[in-house]
Amino acid sequence: MRRAPTILHLDMDAFYASAEQAAKPSLRGKPVVVGGIGPRGVVSTASYEARVFGVRSAMPTAQARRLCPNAAYLTPRFTLYRRVSDQVMELLHALSPLVEPLSLDEAFVDLEAGGTEADTAAARAVGERLRRDIRRTTGLTGSVGLAGAKMLAKIASEQAKPDGLVVIEPGTERELLGPMTVRTLPGVGPATAETLRRAGIHTIAETAEAGEAELVRLLGKAHGTGLYAMALGRDERPVVAERDAKSISVEDTFDVDLTDRTRVRAEVTRLADRCVERLRAAGRSGRTVVIKVRNYDFSTLTRSETLRGPTDDPSVVREAAARLLDLVDTTGGVRLLGVGVTGLADFTQEDLFAQLATEKAAEEEAERERRVAAEAAREAADEPERPRRWLPGLDVIHEEHGAGWVQGSGVGRVTVRFEQPWSGPGRVRTFPVDDPALRPGEPLPLVGGPAEPSTGPAQEGPAQKDPAQKGADQKAPAPQSSAPATLPNSVSARAASEPGTGPETESGAGMSSR
Ligand SMILES: [Mg+2]
Repeated sequence: MRRAPTILHLDMDAFYASAEQAAKPSLRGKPVVVGGIGPRGVVSTASYEARVFGVRSAMPTAQARRLCPNAAYLTPRFTLYRRVSDQVMELLHALSPLVEPLSLDEAFVDLEAGGTEADTAAARAVGERLRRDIRRTTGLTGSVGLAGAKMLAKIASEQAKPDGLVVIEPGTERELLGPMTVRTLPGVGPATAETLRRAGIHTIAETAEAGEAELVRLLGKAHGTGLYAMALGRDERPVVAERDAKSISVEDTFDVDLTDRTRVRAEVTRLADRCVERLRAAGRSGRTVVIKVRNYDFSTLTRSETLRGPTDDPSVVREAAARLLDLVDTTGGVRLLGVGVTGLADFTQEDLFAQLATEKAAEEEAERERRVAAEAAREAADEPERPRRWLPGLDVIHEEHGAGWVQGSGVGRVTVRFEQPWSGPGRVRTFPVDDPALRPGEPLPLVGGPAEPSTGPAQEGPAQKDPAQKGADQKAPAPQSSAPATLPNSVSARAASEPGTGPETESGAGMSSR
């Protein structure tokens, strides 16, 4: 436990939903739910306006629709979220070499390791500046918690939400934690909470008062001891940067399930390269290559292969990953792919000369692969138009009307709202699903688009309406006729309700290319 609150926890506010509201002016200030839109879908993120109705992350989307039928139900656009996440992580890395990402929008930072003075005022100043930088760079808001321990910093950022900063001064944590429900502590799920409730323990203060022996009796040695320490605010876990990690992995979730085997292979190759990039950046090498595949039905499996020695050679990792992929059936559709390397060492033991000799071969091979991939992409582009699945929320471009997003589709029609992050709320138009003038688009940048004719750096421009202001005062002139941002749920749900059917009809349609 530190004497100064120099462990920072950043958590972006309702990340996916806020990004969608920033991208889609008509949805600002309105309930937005991002997640699986099919009948078995699950909510990823609900905007604050939707949370008022009781919609929560991990809730079945069907239940969310009952609670909040007027929300916009959107399919996630991970390409965009990853882009914003990269910007945020870059800002964090500027603060300290010790950054521990927990997800796309959440991370711990050890400020002292980055040279911030060990006192409250200095830490607070860094936190406030970070929040301003995040807003300016991404157009979105994040909340910051500062404390002397990771667990407390995370509780602080939760309290700071939305769009705030909370410092827990070392020495005050017991007083602060005392009245909170024991569920606030990490690792206390419904089952543990129920066990504790039956023993008359509800709050963190009661947990501390129960004493270690009683908690061990109730929950077992490991859990009981750990819980007692946390109830006292004791948490000595260090912030672990990637370079000290025991494994390095990268993964991608796809906007639309991948069914085309060539495409799956190309993605695995790309992930292997990204993984090796990170491995090399950290000055590490690893011995075991792992792939992770999540299917359309969320079943997830991993396969691993251990090499004879540690490597940071992209062609070695690529080949191992490809061999592992050969063991996996992906015909039902793939939702997520990951490639990782574990068993890390600080240097490679491969013979340097052998490596030099293979380098040229690897380069040639990489070049060959690039050609094949480019060819495949061209082929895909030349393919005759097939009926597409226009999932709500995805980007489209219309030859005449420009950039917009799918508001809903079904019975042979697709409804598109034509608006951009920098425009006012746009108009809705409906087209036949096979309208040749309509094609999938790319996510537009949330900040720095062709906004105002202002000349200065776009970030400072007046065009940057703060999308996180809950839209209460969005003053962009709404067209008189603009309908509430409600999607034709029944049809869009039906259109998206056939996971795994006809893999051959789906090759890449609607996929955002990277
Ligand atoms: Mg978040």
